[in-house]
Amino acid sequence: MVSRFQRLISLLLLLVAAAAAQETVRSLSLLHVGDLHAGLLPDLQDHGGFARLATAIRREQQGCTWCLLVNAGDLVQGEPVSTLFQGIPVYQIAGLFHFQISTLGNHDFDYGWETTSRFLKAGVAPIVSANVVDGGGRLFTRNAYVIRKVNGMRVAVIGALMGHLENYEAPAKLGPWHSLPPIETVRKIAAELAGRSDVIVLLAHLEAAEQAAVLHEVPEIAVVVGAHVHTGLEKAEEFEHRLWVRAECCGRELGRLDLKVDVPAKKLASWNWKRIPIDSSIPPAGDMAARVAKWEKRVSKVVDVPIGESRRELAKVDLQRLVEGAMAEQMGADFGLINLGGLRDKLPQGRLLARHVWNVMPFDNKVVVGKFKGSQLPPAVAKAHTVEPDREYTLATIDFVVETGALGTRGLAFPQTGPLLRDLLIDWIKKKQVIE
Ligand SMILES: [Zn+2]
Repeated sequence: MVSRFQRLISLLLLLVAAAAAQETVRSLSLLHVGDLHAGLLPDLQDHGGFARLATAIRREQQGCTWCLLVNAGDLVQGEPVSTLFQGIPVYQIAGLFHFQISTLGNHDFDYGWETTSRFLKAGVAPIVSANVVDGGGRLFTRNAYVIRKVNGMRVAVIGALMGHLENYEAPAKLGPWHSLPPIETVRKIAAELAGRSDVIVLLAHLEAAEQAAVLHEVPEIAVVVGAHVHTGLEKAEEFEHRLWVRAECCGRELGRLDLKVDVPAKKLASWNWKRIPIDSSIPPAGDMAARVAKWEKRVSKVVDVPIGESRRELAKVDLQRLVEGAMAEQMGADFGLINLGGLRDKLPQGRLLARHVWNVMPFDNKVVVGKFKGSQLPPAVAKAHTVEPDREYTLATIDFVVETGALGTRGLAFPQTGPLLRDLLIDWIKKKQVIE
C-alpha cells in the first residue's frame, strides 16, 4: 500500500519535473513589420496607417513580457512627407513604435548614405546590419547584431541587406558603401554567436531567393524575418525546425510569431504565426495620429491639390504604359521606358490629386533622353514596339534606370536631362484633364 507520505513525495517529484520542463522550453514572440515605406496614412484601400499600426502593436504587447518588436527595413520612401523632408520625419515619427531592433533596407539609402547615417541617430531603435561595409571592411552600422535577454533567453538578432545593393541604388547614393554576400556573412556571424545565444533571428532585407537560401543553408538561424518583397508569405515556411516569415508591406499587416524554444537544444519546439491585418477596425493611437497630422499638415498645401480625373484605376503594367506614353509625349520622344518597380502605388479612379502622383512616384527621379538606332534600343522597348534596326529613335527614361544599368540600358548614353518624372506626369495629367 502506498503511504500518504510516498504519494506526497511522488507529487512533489512531478511538480519539480514539470517546473524543470517549463524552464527548458520558453516562450518568445516576435512582433514584426518591414517595408513600412513611410505609410503614415492609410492607403487607397483604407489599409495600414501608422496610427492604427501603433494601436495593433500595443495591443499585442499588453502583458507580453516575452515579446520582441522588430522592423526589417525600408522605413522611408513612399509618401510626400518622406520625399519632401528626406525621410528624417518618418524616423522621428516611427520613434513612437518603440521598435526594439531595426535593420536597414535598400530604400533607407534613397536620400544618400549621409542621410542614412542620420537615421541611425534618430533613436528609432538599435539599427543592425551585418553586411554593409566600406572598402576597408568597416561596418556602416555600429553593430551587425544585438543580443537581447528575453524571458531568460539570449536572443541574438542580426540584420542583413541584399547582396547586390548596387542594383538598387545609384553609386552616388551609396558613396563608399557596398554590401557583402549576405548568406556567407550571416553564416559566419551566426557561427560566432552560437555559444553566446539561445536563439538567432535574422532581419532579412534580402531578395526572396536569398531569404529562402538562409532558411535552407544556415542552420544556426532559427527564424528568418523577411522584408523587401512586399507581399507577405501565405504561411510560414518551415525547414528542419527553422522558420521563415514575412508580413505584407506598407503597414498593412503586423506579423506575430509565437515560439516555444527548447533552450538546451537551441531549437524551436513549436510555433504559431499570424498576420494581423491593419484596417479600419483598429482605432488609431492618439499620440501617433497627432504626430502624423503635424507632418501631413506641412505637405498638404503642396500635394492635396486637384490635377484632373481618371475614368479607371490604373495599376502595374497599365500604369507603366500610361507613364511611358506620358514621358514620350512630354519629352517629344518616340518611346518612354520605366521600371515597374519605380511605380509605388496605384492611380485611383475618380478625382486625382497631386498626392496620388507623389505616392506613385515618391522618388526624385529625373527624366533623361537619348538617341539610338533601333538595333541599340533596350530589349523591352524593341519588344513593345515595332522598330526598324537602322532608323534613329529618341528614348526617354529616368536617371535611376541608367545609373543602375537596369532594363538593358548599360552602355547607353542619355545626354539630355528633363524634369522630375513626378512633375512631368502631374503636368501631363493637368493638360489631359481626363485619363480615359
Ligand atoms: Zn527593399
